[in-house]
Amino acid sequence: MGASPMLEYAFFEGRIVPFADAKISVGTHAVQYGTGAFAGIRGYLDADGETINIFRLPEHAARLLNSAKLLRATLPFTRETLARTIVDLVEKNAPTGDVYIRPFVYKSSVQLTPRLTGLDNELAVYMLQLGDYLDTAAGVKAAVSSWQRVADNAIPGRGKLSGAYINSALAKDEAEEKGADEAILLDQHGHVAEGSGCNLFLVRDGALVTAPITGDILEGITRRTMIQFARDEGIPVEERDIDRSELYIVDEAFFCGTGVQIAPITSIDGRPVGDGIPGPITLKIREIFFDTVRGRNPDYAHFLTKVRAKVASAAD
Ligand code: PMP
Repeated sequence: MGASPMLEYAFFEGRIVPFADAKISVGTHAVQYGTGAFAGIRGYLDADGETINIFRLPEHAARLLNSAKLLRATLPFTRETLARTIVDLVEKNAPTGDVYIRPFVYKSSVQLTPRLTGLDNELAVYMLQLGDYLDTAAGVKAAVSSWQRVADNAIPGRGKLSGAYINSALAKDEAEEKGADEAILLDQHGHVAEGSGCNLFLVRDGALVTAPITGDILEGITRRTMIQFARDEGIPVEERDIDRSELYIVDEAFFCGTGVQIAPITSIDGRPVGDGIPGPITLKIREIFFDTVRGRNPDYAHFLTKVRAKVASAAD
């Protein structure tokens, strides 16, 4: 096993502590019932080698507080103080390269009733080094899942609610056991929703197509970014219901998300997507994305919160 990718410090119960000390009881409500909500945020080493670019931090902070609302969790944080807490932790850890930041809101009481009210809530944040999660270059194979995407009226998928990730885990296992890399989940009406941990875009006749935010998907921050990049490039975007059979005739397809970044899809259920290689619109959007996060695209510099990195020395 290689060195732990975990960075040294975490935010826990109101202060920064060594990650090893950020521990909770096995009886914690969130552990027993999945009554937590989380965020996943990437920090990229800028092309200058001296700065960590946290991608769309205010949007992630806002979405986490919305997820907390779904959990009826009141926290002593505003969007601004939550974002500040995350920046402080990044500064304290002084990363030398790309990181993934995981804030976690959870029902911290040790209590037996599965409910949302009358329980304590806490915020924890930890971070790790992270490279690609799916292949962003050659692309990935996708498989339509037999597991239905969790419906809004069952567990709201627009929040990043911990318990709902059992749905993702079931679908991910099934996809991998079929020899694919990632799942495509359909909603209760048979419409295409998203991946197990990412949103999905298709390209049909030069337009980007993706499920609407009322389609049992997570309101992805990368998804929102893709839509903006496409519109700015003059590429039409359709947010609409997608039939399963459209997956088999599209010109291009890709997954996107904080962990996934942009992963071209080369086949779906064993059928090649387009020519079976990443297509031109996918490649264009991927290029804008990576230029942006590495600090090379001034048009989208406002998506980045900049923190000083620790410059790796020869002795490190
Ligand atoms: N859908 C699901 C189920 C996810 O877990 C994620 C990852 N957060 C996404 C979509 C992508 O969302 P974002 O771009 O905000 O990371």
